[in-house]
Amino acid sequence: MRVSWRRSPGTENSRVVLAAALDQAGHSLEVCDGPTDRVTCYSLNETNFPSLIREIASANCITIAGGPSATGRWDEVCRVADYVVIGEGERTLPRLLDMIEEGRDEPLPGTATAGWGFVPPDHAVRLDAYPAFSRGRGYIECSRGCPQACAFCQTPRLFPGGMRHRSLDACLEASHRLSDIRFVTPNAFAYGSDGRTPRLEKVRRLLSCLSRPDARIWFGTFPSEVRPEFVTDEALELVTEFCANRRLHFGLQSGSDRVLKRLARGHTVADGLEAVDRTLDHGLVPVVDLILGFPFETDDEQAETVAVAVELAGRGCHLHMHGFFPLPGTPLADRSPRPPIPAARRVLGRLALAGKATGSLDLLG
Ligand code: SF4
Repeated sequence: MRVSWRRSPGTENSRVVLAAALDQAGHSLEVCDGPTDRVTCYSLNETNFPSLIREIASANCITIAGGPSATGRWDEVCRVADYVVIGEGERTLPRLLDMIEEGRDEPLPGTATAGWGFVPPDHAVRLDAYPAFSRGRGYIECSRGCPQACAFCQTPRLFPGGMRHRSLDACLEASHRLSDIRFVTPNAFAYGSDGRTPRLEKVRRLLSCLSRPDARIWFGTFPSEVRPEFVTDEALELVTEFCANRRLHFGLQSGSDRVLKRLARGHTVADGLEAVDRTLDHGLVPVVDLILGFPFETDDEQAETVAVAVELAGRGCHLHMHGFFPLPGTPLADRSPRPPIPAARRVLGRLALAGKATGSLDLLG
């Protein structure tokens, strides 16, 4: 069956992954810029949600919505979309298309509709069962899922059941077509592990197998990152030995240990500062994510985060500043952000002007 995929910012990686799964199942996905006369698929995130939900409501075709916001707000979305795909779609979407093609209409695991409600998924996707991409080129999703449960993050809710990995052979196969090899993973240094205890011998095997003279490997930098407590000397040596990136991206998220604890981040501010020092010692620039405006954050805690931002910028880090945004499906989904304290805009604005911080314009003035 030929199916349309509504183009929208922030959804390209999902399109590539699902197009590969549909190719394998004998369906094909074609990009469009609005509803078509074929089944039209939408990937909803918090940025495109308001406009695309209106488009779905007025579309004159069969509509399928998926993605983080459709999963987190499925009850709302299935009032306008014909079908909602919950969580990962590589297996569910082809099954749903088979059902539509055959004219059947029966509750399908991993979907929700206004008629049959929510049917929980009956599987977790095995990454090796699907190519990382088929037509063209893409990123290699080497790991999926996360055993952490940070209160603001959709990843463990979208992909429950901990961390899974694409095998070395499958990563190698995908890498042959790439001259710049980039990975998608919530924590690059956790490749091959349970996501809590590093298995760096597996990371070494991955990087050494994929390494070739006519290709560059990017690891622990866009579009992947790492967790601060995984930033060890041994891990950093793997980056400097095998990879092209001279930056390492990780989330510290707050300068307050109390806030980190409430977020269930599983690391402390000191862990983050240690990761920064180690990264700099290895000649790499740390790119550090910080978030301001958690609903429970006090002014003093915001001031702690601003102070840490200044300290990190002084040490040579680049900062990615984000304002807290309540994401559907997370424990903080119904909570409103706290506005940043006035000093935050002033200080972070100065860091932005100096080229040391990027991110949310609300914070950077
Ligand atoms: S460690 Fe990263 S991916 Fe995992 S829950 Fe926390 S923010 Fe999400």
